[in-house]
Amino acid sequence: MNNIQKCVQDLVIEHGSAEPKHICDNMGIIILSLELPERVNGFTMKNHGRWFIVLNNMLDDDRKRFTTAHELGHVVMHGCTNAVNLSCNTYFCTSKYEREADMFAAYLLLTAEYDRCAECDALTIQQASQIARIPGEKVDELFF
Ligand SMILES: [Zn+2]
Repeated sequence: MNNIQKCVQDLVIEHGSAEPKHICDNMGIIILSLELPERVNGFTMKNHGRWFIVLNNMLDDDRKRFTTAHELGHVVMHGCTNAVNLSCNTYFCTSKYEREADMFAAYLLLTAEYDRCAECDALTIQQASQIARIPGEKVDELFF
């Protein structure tokens, strides 16, 4: 199990759920859905000590769920490093943090379907993508 899987596992145990929205509610993170530039899926910001996840209101439900999980990854793993994290769907989002947040989101959404991450290892990537409703191109970016 790598550090990101461990991070997801600890979070799921702490909050008794792997559903991104439930964990955000539990942590007091406000999720907003707003009109954003097309290339931006969402972003995270901290204002007066409170975290906000802002989602592009043009995203479909599965993509909002993935983006929520991705942004939650930033809050949990990178909360101290950067006040604002942009999440976008184009080539310039190749930083280490973006990739880590995507991995976090993938593990979390898989964990939402299974009790433990370990059980997901038996799945093919395509099956995992379908079950966890991870956007197809994310699967390519993350695992190939
Ligand atoms: Zn991001």
